[in-house]
Amino acid sequence: MLKDQDRIFKNLYNDLGEDVYSSKKRDDWLNTKELCEKGRDWIINEVKASELRGRGGAGFPTGLKWSFAPKEVGTKPHYLVINADESEPGTCKDRDILRFEPHKLIEGCLIASYAVNAHKCYIYIRGEYYREGQKLQKAIDEAYQNNLIGKNASGTNWDLDIYIHYGAGAYICGEETALLESLEGKKGQPRLKPPFPALIGLYGCPTIINNVETIAVIPTILRKGAKWFSSIGKPNNTGTKIFCISGNVNKPCNVEEEMGISLKELIEVHAGGVQGGWENLQAVIPGGSSMPLLPKNTCETITMDFDSLIKEKSGLGTAGVIVINKDQDIINCMARIARFYKHESCGQCTPCREGSGWMWRILVRMTNGEASREEVDMLTDVTKQIEGHTICAFGEGSAWPVQGLLRHFKKQIEKRNNFNPLIRTNKNIPYLVDQHLLDKENV
Ligand code: SF4
Repeated sequence: MLKDQDRIFKNLYNDLGEDVYSSKKRDDWLNTKELCEKGRDWIINEVKASELRGRGGAGFPTGLKWSFAPKEVGTKPHYLVINADESEPGTCKDRDILRFEPHKLIEGCLIASYAVNAHKCYIYIRGEYYREGQKLQKAIDEAYQNNLIGKNASGTNWDLDIYIHYGAGAYICGEETALLESLEGKKGQPRLKPPFPALIGLYGCPTIINNVETIAVIPTILRKGAKWFSSIGKPNNTGTKIFCISGNVNKPCNVEEEMGISLKELIEVHAGGVQGGWENLQAVIPGGSSMPLLPKNTCETITMDFDSLIKEKSGLGTAGVIVINKDQDIINCMARIARFYKHESCGQCTPCREGSGWMWRILVRMTNGEASREEVDMLTDVTKQIEGHTICAFGEGSAWPVQGLLRHFKKQIEKRNNFNPLIRTNKNIPYLVDQHLLDKENV
């Protein structure tokens, strides 16, 4: 369990105030100039040594990403872009950083911008976070007024301007290249990679894109040292992490904990336990809706870190823990998630555009007990046809939850659909899907 002195986000519940003066009392902006004076290489090497991995979902090593930016500024300016789109269902950690710890983020923006040679930083916030955006803007204004950013920011001899940009509500704009497209004023659709944004990003210029939480922990890591950060958690899965626990728990919450904490402890100690008791647990989605669910027996022992969850064929993702108890219809839950992905597909790739609708429709039939035996295999096949065959990771994000259901709850699907007298084996039999839903979705 995380010791209080190792907590990075001390104002996660806004007990201490989010303004610049209160933030300074928590050591924000303490020695920013001295940290920058140690040089770009020192900063990047320290971040590498801390083994910090991106907190937005992919878990890519942050220091390594920064080292991909060209060492010298050529004919094109460099940019730092902060991904505050936070649209993954079950995830609301960046929201509390934006509104309660904005100065950690702003100071992190200055240090990261300095490290990657950027004079401009854009923070892309989802449109629904309007109030959070207002709070962040207030903090940015405070930072300008106190010469913490702007010309000769914090006395570092480095100029930095920070701008907020509001998204318009598309989940896919959380994908980094779709985010860049949207920031440029275009339709938010992912780009083919390579080239990667570190070389050709915003307006075709070198751009480093990081999640809010990733950047907000940087000042503390540099202040306390890479060794301190890497001593928390497990090797290759170091540091602290904000977990968002929701669903069928008694006290849904955001909590900063040690990476590698056990899932059971997270739920029992911090979220007040499963509704109806631990024995009433059915499954947990450990990392936001795009990660495959874990059945109860795995939840008994699993620890919450990147590598342990991959071993169980799931993932830490955004660390949005969604608890599902036995009162829920698990097939219907997954059908609901599939509907979300069908709605949010940007439509560029055929497997994602068409496959996400297929998965949803089959899952609706399975929920209603109207699917044929063949459709179980067909659904598996559709997920495999999507996975690895699309421009961006949204394809996997839509297929993995369905694969998780098929992996762990196949018997339940078979049982429900075998009991139905209308089991069909040919395509001419009329389906009894919820026609109202289908009409609404125009399929
Ligand atoms: Fe768009 Fe889906 Fe292709 Fe991503 S995978 S680019 S969301 S169609």
